[in-house]
Amino acid sequence: MPRLFDDSAMAVAAHILTAGPISRADAARDLHFSPASLTRLVRPLIDGGLVGDRAVGASLTGMGRPTRLLEFADRDHRFVGVNITKTRVHAVVVDCRATVTNSFDMPLADTGTRTVSSVVRQAILRCVRECSPTDPARAASGVRGIGISLGGTVREGTAIRSRFLGWSEVPLVALLDLPSELPTPLLVNDVEALTELERWFGLGGESGNFVLATVGAGIGHGVVHGRRSVTSPVSGYGMTSHLPLLGVSGMCQYGHQGCADGALTTASVLARARMGRSNIALDARPSTLDELVEMADGGDVACQRTIEGFGAALAVYVQVVCNSAMVTDVVLDGELVTLLDSVWARTFRQQIGDFRGPHLPPLDVHLRSGRFERWAQAAATTAIIQWLTHGVEETVGASHEHPLPAQP
Ligand SMILES: [Zn+2]
Repeated sequence: MPRLFDDSAMAVAAHILTAGPISRADAARDLHFSPASLTRLVRPLIDGGLVGDRAVGASLTGMGRPTRLLEFADRDHRFVGVNITKTRVHAVVVDCRATVTNSFDMPLADTGTRTVSSVVRQAILRCVRECSPTDPARAASGVRGIGISLGGTVREGTAIRSRFLGWSEVPLVALLDLPSELPTPLLVNDVEALTELERWFGLGGESGNFVLATVGAGIGHGVVHGRRSVTSPVSGYGMTSHLPLLGVSGMCQYGHQGCADGALTTASVLARARMGRSNIALDARPSTLDELVEMADGGDVACQRTIEGFGAALAVYVQVVCNSAMVTDVVLDGELVTLLDSVWARTFRQQIGDFRGPHLPPLDVHLRSGRFERWAQAAATTAIIQWLTHGVEETVGASHEHPLPAQP
């Protein structure tokens, strides 16, 4: 498995974080270091208090003999993650391995900057309180980082543009006016954050090359090669939102006939089912994805054909994006992946291999829950990465300034 960082100290710390508790022998093998090099690299992390080695367990490479395991020392490290959608703010508290310990969401009355910044502020402060419910006075001290994500282009705490929120040039982090004892929040693009969650704590642990694709209010994708996220000046613009898709007849807000946005977003899927029913229906159903599936199962042919069409269009989209990105693993997430549980979406599985040469390995599809909590967990992950990077820089920098005596 490729390392998460080229830098040796960073790579060791990141591996202990993502794969720990882990023996020195196993970490050395995984990272292709000699045991002596690994010991040298770990020492400042232990001396600086970032990594502990008190726990005892079995080493995979040491014939199962008991040995000291490396792991992150302080289990009380907490991170806050917040995701902003058009109608709700989702918030989580996670530990340093992005495991969710608290989760909740709050409604948004509108997407005005005053409303959103007020609700995000309340959500963050509630998360901080929940980090230490028995001792609120000390709660802030356990929060090592805060990540906030939204759909759109962001830069240094400012939302440059968000179609979903109707924002341009909104200095969100400054508007939050958080207490000074809290870390400054990191504002990130939601799909980029989700890609980081998978790269560090998800599929990245098994595969260094994959695409993450999301279908929901919008369409987004991230590419990971050699366990590095592909970054670009046009990240956050939804580069595959308007990809033309074979066999698709829907239309998007820009008038594109047959693009991904016109076929694969929640609004376009529901609108297609309603349009099919409009000749005879006296109501405006379906209005939700659950209702769409319920009506399809109940015999509504327009709803059945809509879900079949969604499955087929998603199969085309995934093949185009994965083949262009030269990967054979894809993580699928976003609220619309729940439609794939429906029997009417079997078109997806049936057609996912339609456009592959005979010698190309099959596509491996990794379905995620589509729950909004994942987006908040992903935002928190970006704060974990920032905290770890700073922590290692400080620790290793300090050990350079005060060299330790040589150990036998
Ligand atoms: Zn379009």
